[in-house]
Amino acid sequence: MKKALKEVKQKLLDERALLIEKLKGNDLSVDDAETPDPVDLAVRNYSKNVMLAVSENETRQLALIDEALLRVEDDEYGLCQNCEQEINPKRLAAIPWARYCLSCQELVEQGMLDDE
Ligand SMILES: [Zn+2]
Repeated sequence: MKKALKEVKQKLLDERALLIEKLKGNDLSVDDAETPDPVDLAVRNYSKNVMLAVSENETRQLALIDEALLRVEDDEYGLCQNCEQEINPKRLAAIPWARYCLSCQELVEQGMLDDE
């Protein structure tokens, strides 16, 4: 494995470990033992939803990182999953788990490319 790839792999593994820690830290079990007043309840539900949204993002990112790790193993890392062109190294440095090149990512964001 190339040195650059090893570094990428390490970066992905570090990020992965960090995300797992974060997800573990998100305690979604709200203590419902006592009967809280309605305002308190609304606040709790709100923060519960926020936390759920956060962990959804993190779960999704985790899946992207796992995918990127597989691509490292398969020696396909850095190739756009749509057009198979090389992804700009600057983009990869910023988002090591990027799936698409910038132009394909734009298509995804416009809903013109199926992102699954
Ligand atoms: Zn592309």
